[in-house]
Parts: sequence; structure tokens; C-alpha cells
Amino acid sequence: MDVDSRVAIVTGAARKGGIGRAIARRLLRDGMRVTISDVEKAPETHPDYEVPSPSELEDAAAELSQYGEVQAVTCDVRKADQVEAMFAATVDRFGRVDVLVNNAGLAVGLKPVTELSEEDWRLNLDVMATGVFLCSRAAARHMLERGQGGRIITIASQAGKTGMALLAAYCSAKFAVIGFTQSLAQELGPEGITVNAVCPGTVSTPLLSVKGGVFDAYTKLTGLSVEDYTRRLMRTIPLRRFATPEDIAAAVGFLASNEARYITGEAINVTGGQEMH
Ligand code: NAD
Repeated sequence: MDVDSRVAIVTGAARKGGIGRAIARRLLRDGMRVTISDVEKAPETHPDYEVPSPSELEDAAAELSQYGEVQAVTCDVRKADQVEAMFAATVDRFGRVDVLVNNAGLAVGLKPVTELSEEDWRLNLDVMATGVFLCSRAAARHMLERGQGGRIITIASQAGKTGMALLAAYCSAKFAVIGFTQSLAQELGPEGITVNAVCPGTVSTPLLSVKGGVFDAYTKLTGLSVEDYTRRLMRTIPLRRFATPEDIAAAVGFLASNEARYITGEAINVTGGQEMH
């Protein structure tokens, strides 16, 4: 193994068929060494939320190890001490961190604002905004100390560009990280660290069909079957299909590459043309 090869951390990467796993696969194939991480259990306030089983993180590491050197570390991105431990484990094993991919996310509280609980609101912001802050802060501190530049890439969403019914909490978290991306890009640019976001449209992953997720919420709202809802949604996408996790991983691979060295502070849509600003 090339000890000089670059090192990446990908959060929320356990789930089979998820975007995080595809990103880790892509970065490994691009020659990086990768730490994958995910939560150990469902959030205390949401014990029924379907998180990957603990063995799924190990399964991910086993599957990904065919592409390169990978280690699995459990980390709840809401907890600063766990985030610090994930960085420490990565530096311990690989010597450094060049690329952080903030991918962890979840689908809870897909309800009208009038029915949205404070707990659902807080969990969205905690995982997808505070989690991005905590991981990016740890990455920035490490990268500044090393003085070799770096890449911070956050998986935001089309929902970070345009508000959507039933997604007020999710959209608020995703809008937040786009602002955060711009601010951090301003701060870290002079040190050769780029900070960008990727904004997927609808991606075929398990997140769509978790209990209370997008399919549940929108079929209830529209009275359509999943098939009819999918067909209707598909007609609003110029490229006429949902994204695959690999479509998103390709954008991340590019942003992490030397080719993207002059791009920072961006929030790049990968939506098949559904979102154009
Ligand atoms: P996914 O559920 O497969 O992946 C999200 C992962 O994050 C899961 O493995 C989950 O366990 C993990 N996670 C949840 N809470 C966590 C926490 N506190 N700490 C660490 N990990 C945690 O879903 P996905 O569709 O692959 O989503 C990946 C990212 O892409 C998310 O940020 C999501 O918001 C974003 N996104 C997805 C879509 C889509 O249509 N699927 C669209 C736009 C953006």
C-alpha cells in the first residue's frame, strides 16, 4: 500500500446501497485510503429510526477492502468527542486526513410544519448541520496544522436550494450547510483548503423508503401509489431518471481530485437538471 496516498473520511457510509458507501468506493478506486464511519444505534429520541445494523459497517469495510485500504470507525456526528475520536483513529492508522466527506444524514419529521415536533426539528439540525460543523471543524484544525491543504465536501441537497413541503426541518439543515460551506471556504481558501457542497436530487437509496421517509410522506400527501408518485416525479427531471449513488460519488470524486483545485465555496447540483440554480 502506498503510504503517500491521500486519506479520506466519509461519514454515514455503512448502508448498503447508500451514497456514503458509493463515495468511499469511488475514493478508494481513485487511490485514497479511507475511514468509513456510521452511528452505532438509533438516536435516543427516535429509537424506531432505521439505522444500519452495527454489522453493516463491518460488512461495508469488508466489501470496500477489495478496492484499497479501509478502516471502519463508529461515530455519531452529533457528538464532538466521537468526531475527535474518528479523526484520531484515522491519523493513528493512516497518518493524516486530506479529504472529509460529510455525508451522514437522515429522514425524520417529514410533516407539515404545524405537525412538526421540536424533537424532529432538532434532530435534523443536529445531524445535518451541527454534525457538518463538528466534522468540518475537526478537519480544518487538522489540515491547518499540517499545512498541506485539503478538501472538505458536504453532501447537501437540492432541498438546500429550494424549500419543499413536508421538508421544512430537512431543508433548513441543508440550507444551513450551504451557508456554512461558503463561510468556511472564505476562511480556508488562503490555506489551500477547498470547501464545497454537492446537492443531489432524488437518489435511489434506502433513505427514500425508510419508515416515515420520502415515499411514505409523499404518497400519503398525494394519495398516489409509490409507482405513480415515482412516475410523476420522474417527469419533472429533464434527464428522466433518479440519480444513482455513483452519480453523486462521481461529483465528490471530482471535487476531491486535483482537477477541482480552483473550485471552492460552490454548491453543485447533481439533479438530472431538476434544480438549475
Ligand atoms: P442513507 O440513509 O443510506 O445514508 C445516511 C447515513 O447516515 C446512514 O447510514 C445513517 O445511519 C447515517 N447517519 C444518520 N445519523 C447519523 C449520525 N448522527 N452520525 C453518523 N451517521 C449518521 O441515505 P443516503 O440517501 O445515502 O443519504 C446520504 C446523504 O445524502 C444524506 O446527507 C442525505 O441527506 C443526502 N441526500 C440524499 C438524497 C436521496 O434522495 N437519497 C437526496 C439529497 C441528499
